[in-house]
Amino acid sequence: HHVGLHASGFKDFLLKKELYRAITQCGFEHPSEVQQETLPQAIIGSDILCQAKSGMGKTAVFVLSILQQLEIDPEDNDYKGPQVVVISHTRELAFQTKNEFVRFSKFLPHIRVMEIMGGIPVRDQRKDLVEKKPHIVVATPGRLNQLVNEKKINMKEVRHFIIDECDRVLKEISMRRDVQKIFLSTPYDKQVMMFTATLPKEVKSVCKKFMSNPIEIYVDDETKLTLHGLCQHYVKLEEKQKTQKLMDLLDALEFNQVVIFVATTKRAEALNDLLNEVNFPSLTIHSRLQQKVRIERYQKFKDFDARILVSTDVFGRGIDIERVNIVINYDMPEDSDSYLHRVGRAGRFGTKGLTITFCSSENDSTVLHEVQERFEVNITELPETINISSY
Ligand code: ADP
Ligand code: MG
Repeated sequence: HHVGLHASGFKDFLLKKELYRAITQCGFEHPSEVQQETLPQAIIGSDILCQAKSGMGKTAVFVLSILQQLEIDPEDNDYKGPQVVVISHTRELAFQTKNEFVRFSKFLPHIRVMEIMGGIPVRDQRKDLVEKKPHIVVATPGRLNQLVNEKKINMKEVRHFIIDECDRVLKEISMRRDVQKIFLSTPYDKQVMMFTATLPKEVKSVCKKFMSNPIEIYVDDETKLTLHGLCQHYVKLEEKQKTQKLMDLLDALEFNQVVIFVATTKRAEALNDLLNEVNFPSLTIHSRLQQKVRIERYQKFKDFDARILVSTDVFGRGIDIERVNIVINYDMPEDSDSYLHRVGRAGRFGTKGLTITFCSSENDSTVLHEVQERFEVNITELPETINISSY
C-alpha cells in the first residue's frame, strides 16, 4: 500500500500558499475526482472542455486555476482591463461564481472581482468598471456584450476565458451570438475553459470551435451522470391534483430546504402565493423579477431564511445551495438534460437527497422514460412512506 499514491490532497497541486490557506478555510479536505483530473491541466494554462456530474466541484477547478495563474503586482497602478472573463448563463450563477472567487482570493486581497449582469442600470456598471478596475469579471452574456460594444471595457488584456454551463450558453442562438462577439473582442492567445454536466454532441463541436486542441475531460460517461446519493421517485396524478399532493408531501417529508420547479413564471408566482397563504413560507425566483429582488431572494434562500423555493429553470443549473435535500418537479422539465440539472440541486457534493417528479401527461411520461434510458437511473413510483434516512 503506497500511501503516497493514494493520499491525494490539495497540497499536491503545488498551489500558492495563499490559495492553499483559503482552501483549508473553506473546509475542502480532498479534491474531488473532477478536480484531480482537471486541475493539473488547468493550472498550466491548457484549453479544457470538461464534463462532470453536478455538484462535484467544477467551479473550484476554474476558480483555483485562475487564481493560481494570475500574477497581479499589488504595487502596479497601471490597470488596463480584466484578464479573466467568466460567462454564466444566469444572474444568480454569475453572482454565486463571483462569490467563489472572493472566497478563494481571501488571502490575495489585491485581486479584484466584479460581476456584470443585466437588470441593473448599465450606467452603474460603467461607473463600477472604472472605479473597481476588476481583474476578473463574471458576466452574463447580454450585458457584457453591450459594454464591449460601447467600448466601456477593454478586452485586450484578457488571458483566460471561461464558459460555465457551456452547453446551455452555446445552444441558444442569441446567447451564443453575444458570446461570440465578446470572444472576438479578446486577444487570440488565451486559455479557454468550458464546463458542464451535460454535453450533447452538436454542442460539443460548437464548444471546440472556441478552443485550440482542448484537453477533453469526461469524468463520467453520459449513462453515469446520475447522482447515486439521490433517491428518485415519480408520482402519477392529474394536473388538478398536483397542489394537494404537494401540500401533503411538504407536510409529510422532513426537509432542510426544498426547491419546487414549475414550467412558467406565472405558475411560479401562483404556486408561491398559494403556499404562503396556507402557511408554507416560501420564496419564488424567476426571470420576470427585478434583478435586485432575484439576488436578494437567492441570498435569503442561501442564508436559510426560507426553506421552500418555487422556481423556474433559471434556478435549474449551477446553483449550489448546500442544504437543499429535496427537489420536486411540480411540472415535468422540458427534456432529460434539464431533469438531470434540476435534480442535481439536491445532493450537492455527493450528499444524499430526494427527488419527486409529478407526471400528469403522455408527454411527461415520455420525458421521464427518456431520463431513465439515458442515465441508467431507476426512478420508481413514490412509496406510501419514505424512510427519512434515505435522503
Ligand atoms: P458543480 O459546478 O460541479 O455542479 P460546484 O462547483 O457548484 O459543483 O460544487 C458543489 C459544492 O461542493 C459546493 O458547495 C462546493 O463548495 C463544494 N465542493 C467543491 N469541491 C469540494 C471539495 N474538494 N471538498 C469539499 N467540498 C467541495
Ligand atoms: Mg457548476
